[in-house]
Amino acid sequence: MKPQIIGTIALFIAGVLLASESASQTKLQAPGFYRLMVGAIEVTALNDGVVSYRTAQILPTATPEQITKSLYEAGLTDPWGMSYNAYLINTGGKLVLIDTGTGGKLADSPFFAGTGRLVANLHAAGYQPELIDEIYITHLGPDHVGGLTKGKRRTFPNAILRAARSEVAVFLKPDAAQTNPKDWRIPFWRDLFQPYINAGKFQPFDEDGPLANGIRAVATPGHTPGHTSYLIESKGQKLLVLGDLILVAAMQFADPSLPTPFDADQRGGIAQRHRVLELASREDYLVAGAHLPFPGLGRVRAAAAYRWIPVHP
Ligand SMILES: [Zn+2]
Repeated sequence: MKPQIIGTIALFIAGVLLASESASQTKLQAPGFYRLMVGAIEVTALNDGVVSYRTAQILPTATPEQITKSLYEAGLTDPWGMSYNAYLINTGGKLVLIDTGTGGKLADSPFFAGTGRLVANLHAAGYQPELIDEIYITHLGPDHVGGLTKGKRRTFPNAILRAARSEVAVFLKPDAAQTNPKDWRIPFWRDLFQPYINAGKFQPFDEDGPLANGIRAVATPGHTPGHTSYLIESKGQKLLVLGDLILVAAMQFADPSLPTPFDADQRGGIAQRHRVLELASREDYLVAGAHLPFPGLGRVRAAAAYRWIPVHP
């Protein structure tokens, strides 16, 4: 046989062998960050993970028909993946992180398994934990504060930690452990905040008001007693970082009155959803949601019902 023919046959056999070996699915996504400008302020959405939920877990009063119809209209089926997002704000003068992800804590819980990717995505986005000047907490959900520490150390060693006093009072009170001896969250929260308190880097705040140039706190209690949203403003553009006001984008824009047991005060949660959706649609704010589909950024339009218009990467 001529050498060329032998070579051709060898190549053919190799091709058949390769084709019969099916490639395994990698299931990997691109690094979870997304960037946009709000005036002169750079905003980076950071994903901490995606967690699977059934809608009825979050909105138990919604009927099965309501759920099926809403999910169909959103292109989803139960269960669906809920994004866990945080937001990094670079004002030009300060680097501020709003919420910190789970830090990989409580990984045995179905609510937190597979999360803890925030710091990896922070690196992918071109920043390091040491660069963060301030951390603003929307509320004490483990998926928002869990990332404050790594072991017993501060994940963000140079950052001032800020949160509403009404939110942190529950575990900062000296008698907190005695009044709620069975509440596992009291020591959990203490362990997360104590390294910052010990370093003189914890500064709670009292009311709505400015925190950094272009960023102000907006009290939105309901999901938790001191739940706080943050308004970013530059050159006439505004972005409202909502925190956990909306958990199910497919249903709670259309019906903000759907109650959820995830809200500590369900009526308060409903009132705040109505308030911020009315405000965001009237003022044409960009909004960012900790659990809206990553990057969780978009605008709200009011029609017969509110409608969610996501940004397109
Ligand atoms: Zn949350």
